[in-house]
Amino acid sequence: MKDFEREKLLEIFEDLLMIHSPSCKEEKVADYIINFVKELGGEVYLDESQDKYGGNAPTIFAKFLGEGEGITFSAHMDVIEPNKDLKIIKEDKIWKTDGNTTLGGDDKGGLAAILYSIYYILKNNYKHRDIYAIFTPGEEVGMLGARNINWEEVYKNMKPAKNMIVVDNAGSCDKVAYKAPTSYTFTFKIRGKSAHAGIEPEKGISAIMLAAKAISQFKILRIDEFTTANISNINSDFPTNVVPDYVEFSGEIRGHDKDHVLEILEEYQQIVRNLTEDFEFEKTLDYPALVPSDMEFSKEIIRSYKNIGVDAKEVIIGGGSDANFFADEGFNSLIVGVGMEKVHTKEEYLVLEDLENTSRAIIDYLKLD
Ligand SMILES: [Zn+2]
Repeated sequence: MKDFEREKLLEIFEDLLMIHSPSCKEEKVADYIINFVKELGGEVYLDESQDKYGGNAPTIFAKFLGEGEGITFSAHMDVIEPNKDLKIIKEDKIWKTDGNTTLGGDDKGGLAAILYSIYYILKNNYKHRDIYAIFTPGEEVGMLGARNINWEEVYKNMKPAKNMIVVDNAGSCDKVAYKAPTSYTFTFKIRGKSAHAGIEPEKGISAIMLAAKAISQFKILRIDEFTTANISNINSDFPTNVVPDYVEFSGEIRGHDKDHVLEILEEYQQIVRNLTEDFEFEKTLDYPALVPSDMEFSKEIIRSYKNIGVDAKEVIIGGGSDANFFADEGFNSLIVGVGMEKVHTKEEYLVLEDLENTSRAIIDYLKLD
């Protein structure tokens, strides 16, 4: 690839790494990105939803008008702590830390790949597609940025392309994730009837026994190839001589098919209902499923990787990220990686070749001539 400046890519990566940006405190890194985009002549729209969850940085939308079918990139601005006073140890092939902090390659590597690729295209005056980018805060603490975007307002200002690449996959760059499950947490609160357990236990209804009977009938753990569930907490605390009249338990359920997940939650409720009417059930969406709307797009991305010499494959992953919320909003989102390894630990490192390769693949896809 002509004029590819590895030095510039690494300079941007280092700039970003050295700005401390824990979740909900990404303001300075947001300023850096906004300046970067504006200096390249991009249009910026800020989604200021951070007040809803106590953050200090907006979700940044950027746009560089081109031609032909557009693409939207995304990466998150927050990093896992401890990341303050980061010292980057630069080796030939990897960048790591001195062992006292995380690196923050998750997801500064993603940010750097996107920013550098746009820089490369514009600086060299290549004919390119419409380029959009969404830079989110609060990803590591429940995808707070992506979850809270006010899309109605966004669409009044900017219409990001539906084909999307989220640059935030852990591991090497030869994996294109296109599918991830939805996840719900749920809680049951079951009431029984209290009585003296030694004198007249027959007058009581043990809430703990109701819970035990219910859970023993639940489908849990591995439900099928694409669905899992787990009960992780049970609470009831009474003196030994009291028939317990209250218990609550909670867990999670994940699956690639949202309807199936909701069916199982419905089944759980029916099982409890058959034992007692006196219960409450709550469920919370942790994240929606990532389901691509068009697999042709992932074929094109894999082709771009191939063009730069990487044999990438489509993979299914087991967790949630911003990409799940974007998919729920109708984006055709895929997740690619930049070589971040041992993420969320102080042993975190980033393989520079993967960062470079994903940047090259992005450029390959963006360029029209
Ligand atoms: Zn990440």
